Amino acid sequence: MVSITNHLPTAELQALDAAHHMHPFTANGELAEKGVRIITRASGVTLTDSEGNEILDGMAGLWCVNIGYGRDELADVAARQMRELPYYNTFFQTTHVPSIALAAKIAELAPGDLNHVFFASGGSEANDTNIRMVRHYWALKGKPTKSVIIARENAYHGSSVGSGSLGGMKPMHEQGGLPIPDVHHIGQPYWWAEGGDMTPEAFGLKRAQELEEAILEMGEDRVAAFIAEPVQGAGGVIIPPSTYWPEIQRICDKYEILLIVDEVICGFGRTGKWFASNTFDIRPDIITIAKGLSSGYAAIGGSIVTDEIADVIGSDEFNHGYTYSGHPVAAAVALENLRILEEENVLGYVNDTAAPYLKEKWEGLTDHPLVGEACISGMMASIALTPDKSSRAAFEAEAGTVGYICRERCFANNLIMRHVGDRMVISPPLIITLAEIDTLIERTLKSLDECLGILKRDGLYKAAA
Ligand SMILES: *Cc1c(COP(=O)(O)O)cnc(C)c1O
Repeated sequence: MVSITNHLPTAELQALDAAHHMHPFTANGELAEKGVRIITRASGVTLTDSEGNEILDGMAGLWCVNIGYGRDELADVAARQMRELPYYNTFFQTTHVPSIALAAKIAELAPGDLNHVFFASGGSEANDTNIRMVRHYWALKGKPTKSVIIARENAYHGSSVGSGSLGGMKPMHEQGGLPIPDVHHIGQPYWWAEGGDMTPEAFGLKRAQELEEAILEMGEDRVAAFIAEPVQGAGGVIIPPSTYWPEIQRICDKYEILLIVDEVICGFGRTGKWFASNTFDIRPDIITIAKGLSSGYAAIGGSIVTDEIADVIGSDEFNHGYTYSGHPVAAAVALENLRILEEENVLGYVNDTAAPYLKEKWEGLTDHPLVGEACISGMMASIALTPDKSSRAAFEAEAGTVGYICRERCFANNLIMRHVGDRMVISPPLIITLAEIDTLIERTLKSLDECLGILKRDGLYKAAA
C-alpha cells in the first residue's frame, strides 16, 4: 500500500503513476517516459514537490485556488461537517443546512434577480444542467423547437459530452463523437490572432454580430440560448474588445434567447468583482459557477438562475440531478471560502493593490522581443508570443511548439505558467503578495530569455509565411 503521508521515493511513485494512473488531457505514454512532477504540499501561492522544490503556482491550480493554499479554516469546517453530516442528498423533499446557507449566500452575491442555485460537482456538470434546463424551459413555455444553443469556437465549457459540445475546442470534438445535435458555434472575439486589419473595436462588433446572423439564419424559434465566458480562460485568456459584450447584450435583449454566462473561472473575484458579469456589465439569465466557488478545496459547482427561470422550471418536475448536488461537505467548504473572501476583503486587495501592480509589471513584458501583446483583467492575464510584433505574426513552427518550449522553461524555473498554443497564461491565487508578483515576473523573464535562446539555436525564430 502506498501511504499518502509517508510516501515512497519519487522514482517509485512515478513508476506507479505511469503503471496505473491515466491523466486528463495528457498523452499518457509520453508522460510516463518523462516522469511526472509530484506535488506533495502547498501554502499560499507556493507548491512543494516530492523532491522539496518550491514552485510558484501562477495558475492557482487550475484557475481555482483563489484564496491560496493552506487555509486551515476550510479543513476545520470540512472535518466538522463530516462528523456532523457527511452526506445526505437534496432529492425527494429533503435538504440540509450547508446547501441552504450556500444557496442563500450565492443569491446574495449574484447580480440582479439571479436568486436560485442548482448545484453540481463542477463546471462540466453545471453546463450539462444548463443544456437541459434551457431546453426544458422553452418546452414548458410552449416553444419546444427552441433547442439550439449557440456557443463559440475556442470556448471551454467542460469535458462531459454536453459541456464539451458547447465548448469550441476542435481537438475535443475530434474524439468521442462530439458535438451533440443542436449546438452551433460562431467566431471568437480574438483580435490578436484573427482581427486582421480591423481595429479591435470594429472586430469586436463584427464577432458579436455573428450571433445575430446565426439567430436570423436559423430563426428565433429555433434558438434557446447563447453561452460564453466573459473572458475566455482555457482558450488563452482572451479579453474581448470593449465593443463586444454591449453588442452581445443588445442582441440577446432583442431576440427571445437566454444568455448563459460561464463564470467558472471569472467568478469569485478573478476579474476584481464577485462576477465578471459585473465587470463587463452583462445581464445573464444563467451563470455557471465552480472552481473559485470553493477555491478548489472541494468539488462543487452550479447554475445560478433568474427568478423567472426558477418559476418556469419549478412548475414541473425537473428530471435531473446529481448524487452530489449540494454535497454538504463541499457546500460547507464553499461557504467558508466565501466568508474568507468577504471578511478579509480579498476583492479590495485585488482591486487596490495586487491587480494594478500585476498589470503594470505584466504589461512591461511587452518590452521583451518575444512578447507581442499583454492582456490582463483583474488577476487573469496572457501574453502572445510572436516572432514579429508589428505584423502580429505566428511562428512558422506548428502552433503550440514555441508555447510548449516556454512552458517547459517556466517549469524548470519553478514557475507554473500554462501555454495555450503560443500564448502564455496566468491566473495566480488572488492573495499573491507584491513580492511574489516580482518573483513571478522575474521567473517569466528568465524563462522568456531562455526560450528565445532555444528558438534561435534551433532555427525556430521564424514567422510563418
Ligand atoms: C474549468 C471550466 C469548466 C469545467 O469545469 P469542471 O469543474 O472541470 O467540470 C467549465 N467552464 C469553464 C469556463 C471552465 O474554465
